[in-house]
Amino acid sequence: MTEVRAGIVVTGTEVLTGRIADRNGPWISERLAELGVEVAHILVVGDRPEDLEAALRFMAGEGMDLIVTSGGLGPTADDLTAEVVASFVGRELILDEEVEEKIAAILRGFARRFNFDPEAVREANRKQAMIPVGSIALDPVGTAPGIVVPADGRVVVVLPGPPRELQPMWPAALSAEPVRELLERATPLHGYTLRMFGIPESEIAKSLREMESAGIALPEVEITTCLRRGEIEIDVRYRDEASDIAEDVRTALAARHERHLFSLDGETIDTQVASLLEGHRLGLAESCSGGLLAARITDLPGASDYMAGGVVSYSNEAKTGLLGVDPALIEAKGAVSPEVAEAMALGALGRFGADVAVSITGIAGPDGGSERKPVGYVCFNARLADGTAIARDPVIPGGRADIRERSALVGMHLLRILLSGEEAPL
Ligand code: ATP
Ligand code: MG
Repeated sequence: MTEVRAGIVVTGTEVLTGRIADRNGPWISERLAELGVEVAHILVVGDRPEDLEAALRFMAGEGMDLIVTSGGLGPTADDLTAEVVASFVGRELILDEEVEEKIAAILRGFARRFNFDPEAVREANRKQAMIPVGSIALDPVGTAPGIVVPADGRVVVVLPGPPRELQPMWPAALSAEPVRELLERATPLHGYTLRMFGIPESEIAKSLREMESAGIALPEVEITTCLRRGEIEIDVRYRDEASDIAEDVRTALAARHERHLFSLDGETIDTQVASLLEGHRLGLAESCSGGLLAARITDLPGASDYMAGGVVSYSNEAKTGLLGVDPALIEAKGAVSPEVAEAMALGALGRFGADVAVSITGIAGPDGGSERKPVGYVCFNARLADGTAIARDPVIPGGRADIRERSALVGMHLLRILLSGEEAPL
């Protein structure tokens, strides 16, 4: 089986300097992987023609069948990708009149709304309609057309930088004849994602080793394990002929890690909690997470069906005044204590007339820790109005941002466990 290999060249000084995060490289990489194309390299280069050319040389030298570039297709002088690609493949740029007319039509729309100098607009229009001889123009989504350039047995696909232009243009790029021919040689990959919570990555590595010793042909499938936002994500990719092995892997991991596995099909904790909350009324009481749990819950549309409200009770006065926590309890046990967490959750149930509540109170740091209650010590209480409750007080590792974000995540998982009636791990 011949493999189709691809390289992605992301252009833009703003991406190179880190001022904006690259959203095109990962996106294209994911799309290509789904099609069974092996992405070997992603290179980020600034807006200098020599650097872009060097990147193209590298990709060609490494035998990439497909090279996809993003950015530098705009009307300004620093937008040089079409020119550099044309000279790289040794083709002249010629004016594509059909493209020119399409861009002109788009620009007429702009020009009516803004008061552009018509001569400057014509210039910019013409520049963007210059296409290497023998290549295929892809209809612009903004004002820049994409370009598919077949050259020396490989294909260069040139796409605009703004993700909102690049992404809608992708289907057209895939259906361009030279790209279609190339993709016919690739065998599509299937895949699934498992998600686990509350277990170290090393445990998964150990399981995989043992599964292999037990005779599961792991090298036939591609397994990527990564720790992502506090959860373990296990991504399994495979070709048709390895479907059975991939299913064995899924079954074996599920059996070994039943208590920590919460998603067999890639579904996120947020979506799961949203469906579990259907028909419920949720109240939140947050201290160190500062509303991050409320933000997560309300991130999904339809949250108003179950989210009653939340209190960010950062001060002791707010815990007392808004949630009815007894000041004597705070005095005796401390604001960060399982007892106060419980009182906060009870307060949220009452305050919001809720039937399910979660509270979070902890020490996000960097100061304020002590030997008994170090930075990262966070108390949780998740409870139903009928008295069923889960209380936890872990020490969460990391810096202030990690502790706050992870607190919200733990809150999500406690909600899931509480509402699904599962036995709690941790
Ligand atoms: P334009 O006509 O808008 O200039 P272009 O094809 O020339 O399009 P660039 O000039 O490279 O694209 O980038 C324009 C803007 O698009 C950038 O300032 C940035 O906001 C966004 N952008 C470009 N590349 C990326 C990327 N890799 N990831 C995320 N955003 C990007
Ligand atoms: Mg530009």
